[in-house]
Amino acid sequence: MPSNYTGRFAPSPTGPLHAGSVVAAVASYLDARAHHGRWLVRIEDVDEGRSVPGAAEDILQVLASLGMRSDGDVVWQSARKQLYQAAADSIAAHTFPCGCNRREIADSRLGIAPDGSAIYPGTCRDGLAEGRTGRSLRVRVPDAGEQDDTISFTDRFAGTITQHLASESGDFVLKRGDGYWAYQLAVVVDDAEQGVTDIVRGTDLIDSTARQIYLQRLLGVPSPRYLHVPVVRNAQGEKLSKQTGAVAVAAGDEPAALAVLQQAAIYLGLAPVPAASVSQFWQAAVPAWDALLRQRGAT
Ligand code: GLU
Repeated sequence: MPSNYTGRFAPSPTGPLHAGSVVAAVASYLDARAHHGRWLVRIEDVDEGRSVPGAAEDILQVLASLGMRSDGDVVWQSARKQLYQAAADSIAAHTFPCGCNRREIADSRLGIAPDGSAIYPGTCRDGLAEGRTGRSLRVRVPDAGEQDDTISFTDRFAGTITQHLASESGDFVLKRGDGYWAYQLAVVVDDAEQGVTDIVRGTDLIDSTARQIYLQRLLGVPSPRYLHVPVVRNAQGEKLSKQTGAVAVAAGDEPAALAVLQQAAIYLGLAPVPAASVSQFWQAAVPAWDALLRQRGAT
C-alpha cells in the first residue's frame, strides 16, 4: 500500500456531472481513502471552447453535496498554460509543427486509433512542405520496432495493457490548431506537477494511457499507477455523456445524495452499503472498496 498516495478526479467542465462521471469521482475518492491518501480535484478546462460557464462551480458543489472535497486547492488548467508551454519547450527536440487539418489526415486512411481519431500519416514530421504553415504541434513517436514504440503498463483491474504507438496512435497533437493545449500533454504535466501517484478513471481513457506514459518518459517524470473503472452506458450501449443525453446530477438534499452514491457503489460492484447518511456511506464504502480490491488482487 503506497503511503504517499495522491489521487485525483479531473472533470472537464463541459456540462454538469452525470451518473457516469459520478462513478469515476466515487471510485477515485474511495481508492484514495482506502489508501489513506490525498484526493485532489482538477478542473480540466484546457479546451476553453468546450467549457460551459458555471459548469465547474456546479460540479464542485455537487461533489461537496456527495461528501467529496479536494484535499488541496482546486486547480484549473486554463490558468496553467505556462506549465504546458515549458513542458513542450523541454521536449522540443521531439516535436514538430504540423500543417495538416483533420480532413487531410482522415483522407490518408492510415487507420483509426482506438480512441476513434485518424492515425497521423507523418506528413509534416520531417518539415513542413513549401508554402505550408504550422497549425498544430505534434510529438514524434518512435517508428514501429524502435525502442519505446511498444508501451506496456499494468492496469490494476485489467492487467497488462500493451499498445504500439506507431500503428495505434501515430505522432499526436500537443498543441491544437485552435491554440489550446491538448488533453494528453496537460494531463501528464498536471499529474506530475501535483505529485499524483494513482490515477483512477473511466475505461474510455485506457487507450490514452500509452501516449501519456510515452510523454512521461520524454519529460522524465514518474508514471503513476493506473486503474480504469467501467464506464456507465445507456440502454443503447453508448457511454453516458452530454452528447448521449445523460441526466445531470444536481446538488440535492441528503437522501438524494445518498441515492446517487448508492447507485455509483452498486455500479462499481460493491455489495449494498448500509448507510442512512452521506458520512455513514463513506464509512462503510471505504472498507467495502478495500475488500473488493483484495478480492480482485488490485490493491
Ligand atoms: N478530463 C477528463 C474527462 O473528463 C478526464 C481526464 C483523466 O481522468 O485523465 O474525461
